[in-house]
Amino acid sequence: MKKEIIKSLGILALVAGFQANAQEQKPEQNMDNILLAEWTGPYAGVPAFDKMKVELVKPAMLTAMDKHLAEIDKITENSEPATFENTIVPFEDSGDLLNKVFTYYGIFSSNVSSPEFREIQRELSPEISEYSSKISQNTQLFERIKTVYENSVENPLPAPEQRVIELIYEEFAMEGANLNEEDKKRYAEINSELSELYTKFSNNVLAEEENYIVYLTEGQLSGLPESYVKSAASTAEANGEAGKYAVTNTRSSMDPFLTYSDERELREKVWKNYYSRGDNDDEFDNNEVIKKILKLRDERVELLGYDNFAQWRLQNRMAKNPENAMELMEAVWPAALARVEEEVKDMQAVADREGANITIKPWDYRYYAEKVRKEKYDLDSEEVKQYLELGNLTDALFYTAGELFNFEFKPVEEGSVPVFHEDVKVWEVTDEDSGELIGLWYLDPFARQGKRSGAWATTYRSYSELEGAKPVLSSNNSNFIKPAPGEPVLVSWDDATTFFHEFGHALHFLAADIKYPTLNSGVRDYTEFQSQLLERWLSTDEVINRYLKHHETGEVIPNELVAKIKKASTFNQGFATTEFLASALMDMKYHTTDPDKIEPREFEKETLDELGMPEEIVMRHRSPHFGHVFSGEGYATGYYGYLWADVLTSDAAEAFAESPGGFYDENMAEKLVKYLFAPRNAMDPAEAYRKFRGRDAEIDALMRDRGFPVPEGE
Ligand SMILES: [Zn+2]
Repeated sequence: MKKEIIKSLGILALVAGFQANAQEQKPEQNMDNILLAEWTGPYAGVPAFDKMKVELVKPAMLTAMDKHLAEIDKITENSEPATFENTIVPFEDSGDLLNKVFTYYGIFSSNVSSPEFREIQRELSPEISEYSSKISQNTQLFERIKTVYENSVENPLPAPEQRVIELIYEEFAMEGANLNEEDKKRYAEINSELSELYTKFSNNVLAEEENYIVYLTEGQLSGLPESYVKSAASTAEANGEAGKYAVTNTRSSMDPFLTYSDERELREKVWKNYYSRGDNDDEFDNNEVIKKILKLRDERVELLGYDNFAQWRLQNRMAKNPENAMELMEAVWPAALARVEEEVKDMQAVADREGANITIKPWDYRYYAEKVRKEKYDLDSEEVKQYLELGNLTDALFYTAGELFNFEFKPVEEGSVPVFHEDVKVWEVTDEDSGELIGLWYLDPFARQGKRSGAWATTYRSYSELEGAKPVLSSNNSNFIKPAPGEPVLVSWDDATTFFHEFGHALHFLAADIKYPTLNSGVRDYTEFQSQLLERWLSTDEVINRYLKHHETGEVIPNELVAKIKKASTFNQGFATTEFLASALMDMKYHTTDPDKIEPREFEKETLDELGMPEEIVMRHRSPHFGHVFSGEGYATGYYGYLWADVLTSDAAEAFAESPGGFYDENMAEKLVKYLFAPRNAMDPAEAYRKFRGRDAEIDALMRDRGFPVPEGE
């Protein structure tokens, strides 16, 4: 569950990515604007990151959107009957200038943001929304797409063309393009009402996070780490409560407090504040908002002819329908509950031995779990870090890419490719045997003011035959702390794993071998799988022995330490899996039940009772603050997707582990590239996986990875 952006620059993704209200305004012309200029220089042209200026963004965006709309007009003005060649090809080819400008926009937004840029972002938001609906609501355009689609049902096109027309048609149809005028009007009204409710939902949660701060006094700090106390003191001071210590009502404050604080009554208070967000029977209560959202979503998909929201949403996901997603969750659920029982027993034993005279409650879980962790799984993270040096890890990435993808990474000459900050380094990627140029890899490793947190991957230019098969410009971005000159960058095991994860996304971009831009698009329950899988190479013997070396002595990380790391990965999986699954199951139940029968507070309680939810655990996100699902549509009936991708990851990793050459088996590597990476969305994900594995994914490997018993009879 990593914070990141995977930005597909496909036109549809761009169109679908923005939603808001709109206002008309004429774009200003600016032909000298560098953001609008062709990319020049080596590698078939690269972005002029060294010349970009924030004041150029708005005129460039307006001009580029205008240009894209003019390209669309040209398609619809064609008086010839619609064909793939005269409609889909130019549609796929359109928006090139906007993609280029959007690359700069992305850098300003994620890597070098500023108050000036955020103001421009606010100004552009309605413009982008207006532009986007001019394409998605374009009746003439859709009529032509529909003609091509219907003809293709009669006379199927070659595979890539058929896949493209199906994806494009489906995207438009799912957004109501087939409705009659009256229904279209209602559809638009529903969307606008929903958009207001989403904003209200998240504003309510935000208000509840701000309104329930617990202030501690000097005598209430027992157990808390020094770093926590320090930041709690400065937060209190910023709130005008100098001398006290603030526990804010957010996950990043609540989680460590519940893990470390010895004050049980305060733990209960902090826990209750956090899990009651949006459920306090006051002006910020979200229960009515949820009811309205569910009803509107249901009405909207009914217009389109679906039984429920989940059925509509999942049709183009790998799971395909809510039944498949539910089946997976219900298969894992009993083992997670059984593990919770063991975890609670372990924790109760610790509490009894300490003479605490308590029964484990939800606000005790993290606290006693931490004590169990220290006893059974203790891992000195500082010791581990000594073996994880950033330069070595980067070489480990290149080694892995060489073994699996036959890619070779060479640093480009300093200054030959423009960058937006001196910390950014660039490598040239070629095929090891043929020397053929694949693309570039940009790495922006360090945290700084104006850069968003977390780690992410993106492309500045994606691969497609239609657009000339130009070199891919891929990038990885992290937030490592920049060391003093000459000092090594040492990272945690988690951060090293994330480094591999994001590199997996970059490899997915670099390995693309597709004909049309739309085939680059992502499938929500599938696109995290490839990058999660790549994480597994960090702990292979080859990487360990070559690259996980002590930064001073060069000694390879000891076997016992690696064994401890692997053992620690199964720690507390009962808690983690149960709190996650409870939310994912509720998400699906909300969207497969008649909304007239739902009173959220009661519905949540009754459903969880039926599922046998342990009383020591609460949903990771309780309904009245489940932002993934109710503050927008991104993850509504999509929360299961994390588990879905985990199943694929465990199953695919086991295929490597069991093959003759293990994780470096040549035959497996070939299939990995051919079926899981290169096709992107050109092949149905379920079919692609079957080709890779020889069968559908099974959950057994996931159960083993989490330390759960594997169900019998399969
Ligand atoms: Zn990811």
